[in-house]
Amino acid sequence: MALLEIINLHAQVEDKPILKGLSLTVNPGEVHAIMGPNGAGKSTLSNLITGRPGYEQTEGTVRFKGQDLSAMAPEERARAGIFLCFQYPVEIPGVGFTTFLRTALNARRKARGESEIDAAAFLTRLKAATKALGIPDAMLKRPLNVGFSGGEKKRAEVLQMAMLEPDLMILDEMDSGLDIDALRIAAEGVNALRSPTRSVLCITHYQRLLDYIEPDFVHVLADGRIVRSGGKELARELEEKGYADFVSQAA
Ligand code: ADP
Ligand code: MG
Ligand code: MG
Repeated sequence: MALLEIINLHAQVEDKPILKGLSLTVNPGEVHAIMGPNGAGKSTLSNLITGRPGYEQTEGTVRFKGQDLSAMAPEERARAGIFLCFQYPVEIPGVGFTTFLRTALNARRKARGESEIDAAAFLTRLKAATKALGIPDAMLKRPLNVGFSGGEKKRAEVLQMAMLEPDLMILDEMDSGLDIDALRIAAEGVNALRSPTRSVLCITHYQRLLDYIEPDFVHVLADGRIVRSGGKELARELEEKGYADFVSQAA
């Protein structure tokens, strides 16, 4: 069964149609890159999949593990294994990072019919994951994302993914605001999480990120639809030619 199946998705924001008949199938273990110019609807797609309020599906179907997502609240989708790595992670004052991770992990375990993780096992896992990502202990004691640098916020997102083990990782322009070293660390963190059962939707408008996170498929999103799909060579073609040809095709 497909992990994510999107058929003829139409969606709008504030009554403005953004997605206009988008179809995409992601099977377990696959890495799909979605590339497209600014304003094409890439973030709208990720917000729609995660159920962010204000993003309204007007037509089509989105299924995750065979379940219709439109009937599920955002937190249910997260518990079912969808994780969105935000382009601009928000600061959450008052919620300690460690507490946040433990609460989120237990919610996910509960949804899978598992018991709460015990404190020692949690800390062991947390230590291993933070070490791999070069995250200092001090960061774990701070409120989530508060005062984190751009690179730290991205690493914090990758740490959340490492702890929560989502089945679908959506990376929305993960490279934005990152210098090359921070990008490499974040991308290696993502690559370490790749597995035959876990899929990635890697949204970007630069080919550069795909040198680090190698996709199996590349799709061009223009004017709310996927106008072309191919292998990773398509990303290079886009980098050379730009999006102009694709955008005019879509119009
Ligand atoms: P991309 O991520 O590809 O740059 P977006 O999905 O962010 O594109 O935006 C697609 C279009 O939807 C843009 O025209 C943008 O202005 C509009 N849009 C997205 N989110 C909102 C919002 N919350 N309110 C109003 N317009 C929005
Ligand atoms: Mg944008
Ligand atoms: Mg965007």
